[in-house]
Amino acid sequence: MRSLVLSALFVALFTPALDAQQLYIPRNVAQAYAKGTRSPDGRPGPKYWQNKGSYNIAISVAPPSRTVNGTEDITYTNNSPDTLKSLVFRLDLNTHQAETPREQPIETEYLTSGVQIDSYVENGKAKPVKSPVGLTVMRVPLDVPLAPQQSVKLSIKWHYDLSLKSNREGVIDPTSYFIAYFYPRVSVYDDTDGWDTGFFVEGHEFYNDFNDYTFQVTTPKNYIVWATGDLLNADEVLKPEFASRLKSSFTSEDVIHVATLKELKDNAVTQQADTITWKWKADNVSDVAIAVSDHYIWDAGSVVVDKATGRRASVQSAYDEPSKDFQKMVEYGKHALDWCSNNYPGVPYPYQKTTIFRGFADMEYPMMVNDSSQPDPAFARFVAEHEILHTWFPFYMGINERRYGFMDEGWTTAFEYMIGTADMGKQQADNMFKQFRVLGWIGSDASDADLPIILPGDAQTGGGFGNSEYGKAALGYLAIKDLLGDVEFQRMMRQFIGEWHGKHTLPWDMFNSFNRITGKNMNWFFKNWYFDNGYIDMAVTGVSKADGGYNLAIKNIGGKAAPTNVVVTYTDGSSETLHQTPAIWQADQTNATVKISTSKAIKSATLDGGIWMDANPDNNKWEAQ
Ligand SMILES: [Zn+2]
Repeated sequence: MRSLVLSALFVALFTPALDAQQLYIPRNVAQAYAKGTRSPDGRPGPKYWQNKGSYNIAISVAPPSRTVNGTEDITYTNNSPDTLKSLVFRLDLNTHQAETPREQPIETEYLTSGVQIDSYVENGKAKPVKSPVGLTVMRVPLDVPLAPQQSVKLSIKWHYDLSLKSNREGVIDPTSYFIAYFYPRVSVYDDTDGWDTGFFVEGHEFYNDFNDYTFQVTTPKNYIVWATGDLLNADEVLKPEFASRLKSSFTSEDVIHVATLKELKDNAVTQQADTITWKWKADNVSDVAIAVSDHYIWDAGSVVVDKATGRRASVQSAYDEPSKDFQKMVEYGKHALDWCSNNYPGVPYPYQKTTIFRGFADMEYPMMVNDSSQPDPAFARFVAEHEILHTWFPFYMGINERRYGFMDEGWTTAFEYMIGTADMGKQQADNMFKQFRVLGWIGSDASDADLPIILPGDAQTGGGFGNSEYGKAALGYLAIKDLLGDVEFQRMMRQFIGEWHGKHTLPWDMFNSFNRITGKNMNWFFKNWYFDNGYIDMAVTGVSKADGGYNLAIKNIGGKAAPTNVVVTYTDGSSETLHQTPAIWQADQTNATVKISTSKAIKSATLDGGIWMDANPDNNKWEAQ
């Protein structure tokens, strides 16, 4: 694992300077072009493949016991042209073991003994397989190598204790649990990197295949279960009145209180057998997550997410009574699904539902959000919108988040700014974006602040890595929007999503697709923003009289091809703002000239990058002597 990371780092840092019109292509991506699994024009190649698992999972949990017991049957199909001699499993919850390396400090309540494998059966034959200590991945040699187009059947029994200190999963309160990353899963084997053996170390996220899931959750009576996918047996688990309320929410414009706190306290909601088994199904998704509680209020509504077909999606929320911001969560969720489906990314919400659960993580899962409660409702909406926006990146698009997090967090952060602008107005959205997403980068002069965004995320830690994934990447995407205009940007985005959804896309697929779809060669910009070091600092170096007005000279000190506004004031007291897209840096990325057409006399000219904040604003102004 270590040698892989180091060689990736070496390649990214020591590639010889290339032509400005050509992007550095890693050798494994070049091989994918040669093999035909990916196309140099950015499309999936004629020989594109990905492996798939079909999971049938049953877990049981009975609070206040923190133990989750599980069994699963997996059919894993090898669609690759390679014969697999072993399987690699992800046991992300081993991150709770004391022996496991983590990027972040933890409290002792976070520690558990991790995942315990109770039995492991491969093609009907039991094998002695033990969960590793201090590792979140496990390699199991196959008795019979798995040939191309063949499947292996696995049956695994396991258990683990939920962590008392909830992070992305764990105990929320003594009778409310968030259950995620909870089953042993086969890791991704892909066409460029083979097995994904990268450790889960908390800061870097996930990379999953698109699998089919049926799963069931058994709890004591009077517990509600929320989860990814379709609830298959509402009538078996809920009393008729409550099953009927849930059903009516699927077509209702109004928010329906499926279960109130009083009804839950009165044990009126679920059927009254000793244990209740909730059954779910979700196909072609990258993961499933589950939440249980005996006192969380349950609201639900729905919204049309595809105007062409009239398809609605269910929006549900589950929360404890003190979390007042959650009383509006179904409305916030409906607004997010509507806005995102029709504006940015402008691709109809691809799933049948979303559930926003009150936890601690501010974290996304397919069709599930685990959000903390916020005193400020506007901020609660902001966080929910961000997590819901992850639906498209990484879930619909299959991003390797651990390695190229700038594709999921970056796009989500760019869309978050756009929906924020629609919600709050430009000024407030700009202020929030600068404060949360830009200042951390632009205000830093740390050694890792200005590293290339393309540097694999799993080769980095620290503040520079976070900025590369979120604000810095988002500013690049928003600069592409500025360069292309909204209509062309949307067309490009939607076509790229259409070509790659449900598949594992890489940055090179994205950049090459953008060039092909727009018919423009934007490599100069992609190289500048995503492959080169740099930051934002422009300086006005002079203003000179020219035919029909003035020429304003700008020097790009930091190097990034950001848009900027030239604010010109005249001696007559009037002023105007001349917007400059990143195109001013296409021919020469160091010096640009902006033509100011006027018959008036200039008093001053100032650069204002807006959200593209300038690291040194002191050199942004020219004044007539
Ligand atoms: Zn995010």
